[in-house]
Amino acid sequence: MQGRPWIFSGAIAREEGHALPGETVAVRSANGEFLAWAAYSPESQIRARVWTTDEAEQVNVGFLRGRLERALALRRAVIPAGETDAMRLVHGESDGLPGLVVDRYANWLVVQILSAGIERWKDEIISLLSELTGLENIYERSDVDVRKLEGLAERTGVVRGIAPSEQAVITENGLRFCVDIIGGQKTGFYVDQRRNRARLAAYAAGREVLNCFCYTGGFSLYALQGGARSVLSLDTSAEALVQGQANLGLNGLPVERAEWREADVFQALRLFRDQGRSFDLIVLDPPKFAPTAAQVEGAARGYKDINLLAFKLLRPGGVLFTFSCSGGVTADLFQKIVAGAALDAKVDAAVVERLAQGPDHPVALSFPEGEYLKGLVCLKR
Ligand code: SAH
Repeated sequence: MQGRPWIFSGAIAREEGHALPGETVAVRSANGEFLAWAAYSPESQIRARVWTTDEAEQVNVGFLRGRLERALALRRAVIPAGETDAMRLVHGESDGLPGLVVDRYANWLVVQILSAGIERWKDEIISLLSELTGLENIYERSDVDVRKLEGLAERTGVVRGIAPSEQAVITENGLRFCVDIIGGQKTGFYVDQRRNRARLAAYAAGREVLNCFCYTGGFSLYALQGGARSVLSLDTSAEALVQGQANLGLNGLPVERAEWREADVFQALRLFRDQGRSFDLIVLDPPKFAPTAAQVEGAARGYKDINLLAFKLLRPGGVLFTFSCSGGVTADLFQKIVAGAALDAKVDAAVVERLAQGPDHPVALSFPEGEYLKGLVCLKR
């Protein structure tokens, strides 16, 4: 088992008894040796998710409290006070809580429940979260496809306290952003890019910036904070662009240096190429092209396409911040794709920094799949 938290149905020779969805079951080897206590998921290919490999441990409220306390302690250790009031407090498998995501947005908590095991302990987990964080208002955003694989329906709504009547305002590295907890993408904001946004600010001074897939302007605001000459932000979501513009105003940044455009990045980059436009700094932060390993090939084509175009649009000395959040695309593969794009664009470029998801999205060494976000900072020569 090598400490992995997932037991696939194909690896199970025999099931004994009739466990209910989410119930704790013992996992044993072929010769009867105890391996783990795990949450049973009768509908899923991932038939059981490991709670613990310690036979003496009992999966109960005390156990869950311990795991949640450990997760909160990790954030206190890795996020300096003042960096942000928005962060991931629980990152599923990597925090020993398979299928549970908890994000904090200022005084709000947002939970996402992705497994039968967590579903079974939902009430206890909500109470513990409120007690351990001191936060009263918890909203559920379990509106994700993968719940189907666990036999669970999608669900959203208030689970404790009151509904978020207004958007939460978070403060990240001194910048304020409105977060739409009810209607925003994911659980509202891409907190995983926080430190990468801060890196971008360090390259932005005096540059003409193109921010592709801008959502509510994360990288755009940091670019302006870092002294960018101009920032053109592209996204297909009109709501996100309106929010981005509002976020700019919230921070007193120079509105006249920012342009927001509703556009498909694949088309816009081609248009800019045909128009002979160029930029000094380009950000490519697309959505997941390959949610699973099966879609990797198509994803690779998509990444290569936009990176190739971006390399062409960059001026010599220009900088590319390029990301992939596809779980199926490894860091190694991503670098190969970007290298192929540079080659085909006939551009000489060098990787000057490697980026990843922030430390509030830890990767348990026993769960390398938890590492999903990778980025490269490339300098065009
Ligand atoms: N960089 C952002 C997060 C980007 S998420 C941040 O730091 O907050 C990806 C974004 O891509 C989403 O806002 C989505 O609306 C947008 N998107 C998806 N497909 C697109 C396309 N083909 N062209 C432009 N934007 C797209």
